[in-house]
Amino acid sequence: MAVGIAVKNPIIAVHLALISHFVLDLIPHWQLNVKPYRLPFSIFTKIFAVSDFLVALALTAIIAHIVLPAHKLNVILCSLAAMVPDFDDLVPQFRIGSKEGNWFLKIVGKFSSIHDSIQCETRNFTGVISQLGMLTLALAMIL
Ligand SMILES: [Zn+2]
Repeated sequence: MAVGIAVKNPIIAVHLALISHFVLDLIPHWQLNVKPYRLPFSIFTKIFAVSDFLVALALTAIIAHIVLPAHKLNVILCSLAAMVPDFDDLVPQFRIGSKEGNWFLKIVGKFSSIHDSIQCETRNFTGVISQLGMLTLALAMIL
């Protein structure tokens, strides 16, 4: 969201938002499910994951529409770009054709391995503190 406000050019902003995802992954952050990921991909987990994404997107759109109307499109596009990398663990769970020899799933799998290797997740309180620090930095960029 902050990148979408700070950078006016949508093409540059979306790319920076995508890159910011990986930079933020390097910083310790709190997460309920840490490596090795053991959440079973039940129908409940899938519904929760999709709902989580849709609620985040809806809240972003509402906030952008009400508080940041001049930056609305940029904020929504940047938020989407920043969320997309985390879909890598979900994509294989939604059967899209055959899994055998599926080139798309192979690429997603390789990307997911690299993505997982840079994660700095924790279930400790230190992850919450660093997230609050990042939130403060983002607010400073906006205000
Ligand atoms: Zn990530």
